Amino acid sequence: NAIIRIENLEKSFITKKNTVTALRDINLTIREGEIFGIIGMSGAGKSTLVRCINYLERPTKGKVFFNGLDMSKLSRRELEKTRQSIGMIFQQFNLLMQRTTIGNICFPLEIAGVPKEEARKRAYELLELVGLKEKDKAYPSELSGGQKQRVAIARALANNPKVLLCDEATSALDPKTTRSILALLKDINARMGITIVVITHEMRVIEEICTSVAIIDDSRIAETGRVDSIFTRP
Ligand code: ADP
Ligand code: ADP
Repeated sequence: NAIIRIENLEKSFITKKNTVTALRDINLTIREGEIFGIIGMSGAGKSTLVRCINYLERPTKGKVFFNGLDMSKLSRRELEKTRQSIGMIFQQFNLLMQRTTIGNICFPLEIAGVPKEEARKRAYELLELVGLKEKDKAYPSELSGGQKQRVAIARALANNPKVLLCDEATSALDPKTTRSILALLKDINARMGITIVVITHEMRVIEEICTSVAIIDDSRIAETGRVDSIFTRP
């Protein structure tokens, strides 16, 4: 069952000087429940692809389907709703510095109109899921990188998304912390069945948790398939 399907996608940017084609001939199917990796060097087109998946960028050509819905056909309201079913985490965590751990996790729930007490209860459940209960009242400045990413993961899961997009989520972390965050993502995938899309420039991230992968090189998909069939292991 496809949760994200991309058909003949092309994305070009028109600048004052020239036209930059960041993506071309992109065809991709991400199935429900898998951990899908997108790997490529800097400038390959990964960020642009992520921004097309959540429709922050409109494709120049081609289509993006989310859960069977053609995203180009959605009204602004429907698009907002669809975006709520796509959680995101980033390299730089993007936490609100003036809010505590619990305050950060409650934030998307408040925006969705969840009553305050219910939001707090849900936030504590999520904090337990990411293993950071004792840091409920800490501010981001008091947390390590790995702890900050755990808070960001809890916040991204608050509205029960169908997909979690991870954009270079471990690139600012040391190898040991990277492994613990990847283990957490794997656990969340297994326990909640949520589809995870991992964007990275690091092969070890793909090898550690992904089931399928697309290799992006110079704005095109160079190869795609199951990780065990694409990479031979020693
Ligand atoms: P990656 O995330 O793999 O590093 P990007 O998607 O950020 O790659 O960029 C792919 C290419 O598209 C780069 O050449 C980049 O400069 C260009 N690009 C991305 N966004 C824009 C934009 N808004 N305007 C012009 N060029 C852009
Ligand atoms: P990331 O660090 O996630 O790869 P970038 O730094 O590439 O993100 O891009 C940040 C923003 O700048 C995005 O909105 C992207 O579309 C835009 N951008 C990237 N490259 C260019 C470019 N060459 N010209 C104009 N805008 C760009």
